[in-house]
Amino acid sequence: MILVSACLLGIDCKYNGSSNDNAKVKEYLKNKAFVIACPEQLGGLTTPRNPSEIVKCDKDGIINENYKIISNKNVDVTENFIKGANETLKIAKIYNCKEAILKDGSPSCGSNFIYDGSFTGNKVIGEGVTTKLLRDNNIKVISEKDL
Ligand code: SF4
Repeated sequence: MILVSACLLGIDCKYNGSSNDNAKVKEYLKNKAFVIACPEQLGGLTTPRNPSEIVKCDKDGIINENYKIISNKNVDVTENFIKGANETLKIAKIYNCKEAILKDGSPSCGSNFIYDGSFTGNKVIGEGVTTKLLRDNNIKVISEKDL
């Protein structure tokens, strides 16, 4: 069973109320068993919502114990992101997912890069909160670009 970011399949759960509908992902998933989740919605955030970024990563974008996640309106949404990650892990365990395809760049779902917390569009190598938790639980996470 494969866990997939809901926005990649056309669900309008992205921060701006749209999706990241991805034909390559849909094609890949044909005849495969999968389950979808949106960690940020599962964490209690609204859709639409203000975009958020991880701040206080180390220089390589690795989340450390001092990180927090803030919106572009300077609201601390760290607890929402942690809750969303934990709820997503529950889904992965219920469905016995061994791998996941998550949307890259997201502070929840990113697996190769995230934004650097400056809200200037700068990317850094790193992973989102949900991706880190899934990987810590031995679930392989790739992005839509890795297919
Ligand atoms: Fe939800 Fe992840 Fe897609 Fe963001 S990238 S909308 S958290 S599924």
